[in-house]
Amino acid sequence: MSHRVTLIPGDGVGPEITESARRIIDAAGVAIDWEVAEAGAEVFKRGDTTGVPRETADSIARTKVALKGPLETPVGFGEKSANVTLRKLFETYANIRPARQLPGVPTRYDGEGVDFIVVRENIEDLYAGVEYLETRDVAVALKIISRKGSEKIIRYAFELARREGRTKVTVATKANILKLTEGMFKRIGEEIAAEYPEITHQHLIIDNVAHQMAKDPAQFDVIVTTNLAGDIVSDLASGLVGGLGFAASGNYGDDVAIFEAVHGSAPKYAGKNVINPTALILSSVMMLRHLGEHAAAQRVEDAVFVTLAEGQAVTLDVARQQGDVEEATSTTGFTDAIIGNLGRSPSERYGRERQVPADPPTPRARWSYAPADRAVPTEVVGVDVYLETSDAPAVIGQHLEAIAGADFRLAAVTTRGTLAWPATSARIDSVDWWSARFVPAAEGGAVTDAAILALLGRVSERYRWMDVQKLTRFGDEEGFTRAQGQ
Ligand code: NAP
Repeated sequence: MSHRVTLIPGDGVGPEITESARRIIDAAGVAIDWEVAEAGAEVFKRGDTTGVPRETADSIARTKVALKGPLETPVGFGEKSANVTLRKLFETYANIRPARQLPGVPTRYDGEGVDFIVVRENIEDLYAGVEYLETRDVAVALKIISRKGSEKIIRYAFELARREGRTKVTVATKANILKLTEGMFKRIGEEIAAEYPEITHQHLIIDNVAHQMAKDPAQFDVIVTTNLAGDIVSDLASGLVGGLGFAASGNYGDDVAIFEAVHGSAPKYAGKNVINPTALILSSVMMLRHLGEHAAAQRVEDAVFVTLAEGQAVTLDVARQQGDVEEATSTTGFTDAIIGNLGRSPSERYGRERQVPADPPTPRARWSYAPADRAVPTEVVGVDVYLETSDAPAVIGQHLEAIAGADFRLAAVTTRGTLAWPATSARIDSVDWWSARFVPAAEGGAVTDAAILALLGRVSERYRWMDVQKLTRFGDEEGFTRAQGQ
């Protein structure tokens, strides 16, 4: 049976590594109809602000599987990342990044048995990319964490562990600081862990994960985390096992999967035939497993391992680590060596002994958010108004107390999350971005939309306000945080 796969060569070194992977898959005897499609820099240049043309999205919608090279994204300006657009367009919510000691690839952890998977939530968090320049000098980004998104990815991690015979899932968050967003992720981790009694669950603060990863990476088995943290620790993980040249990944959704190397377009190596294609080749191995081509996946993985173990061909990145760049093999030479090794098996198995999933390792998302939760009484108990001013805190407090009127009482004025009014002993180096918290003037009084709109009208007579946020209580739970020092 022939599979249809969308192939996106991408930017920089993308065309070289995708060509390498494609040649190896073809040589392994897998019948694939490749639909070559465009995305990235050239598309942006033509004025398409998404970087992903309609035909490419249509092709993936048809084939449901894509192998893609890296896509360039302007750093710090310009359009949104086409990579992230592709992941989001097809709701590929699970970004799977294995980190495994590879034969013949020298690392600081040789022989320790590093073999774990980072399961990164792929849609939400700061990667939602919702940003505002609220004043000329202060930019704000929304960190969005949903119960649904968290349940899907955490359950995916536990299902993946179960399928692969892995025994420990580490839920990694910054819940000590971000009680509502990262805290929700942590709590859902605890709930879902109870459904998998055979798997050990632990929660670690993400900064400690980074520390533990550098100190003793073999302790990890599956790590599940939020989007930005997952991005960073998975790059760290790739550094433990030989670098970005070896780091594979798959983006899995309910019906579409996109496979890509973790690394970017490495522009300085583009067109030089020196880049290490292993990361994308191992991503193709993940793709072949997803397609149900387990025997071919094993053949390709074995051939890569034999080539690396025997060191007949080493790419520039490895040759550099070995201190002998003269010995470096070209990208195409390395690819030829792997093709020459198809059919051979490495003399020893690498990674932990475990069953390889018989099915595509794409646990279907399940989430169980009970509609009954919506029955919890919802009450607005105040409002935060964000405003721009260069006034001193005492002056802001004085004006806003008067502006509060008969409906509200000014409870606090904060800047960058720190209490500035009523005055504290804090030494604040304030910026022009402030938040004023108003609560009902009468204890237990209601906050109506009409009262909020009238309040905003009064605020705008004195200050430019940028944003407003209702303070909500859900049953006994406060849906907002207090300022540092409040
Ligand atoms: P990068 O392209 O990943 O390259 C950073 C460095 O990593 C390279 O200079 C090289 O290190 C090493 N490297 C990367 N791939 C390698 C490989 N296959 N073999 C050996 N070494 C490899 O990161 P960047 O320079 O920060 O980003 C360049 C562009 O790629 C940006 O536009 C960025 O937005 C984009 N990007 C795309 C994706 C994606 O498509 N998923 C991911 C990340 C970044 P040495 O210099 O030490 O040799």
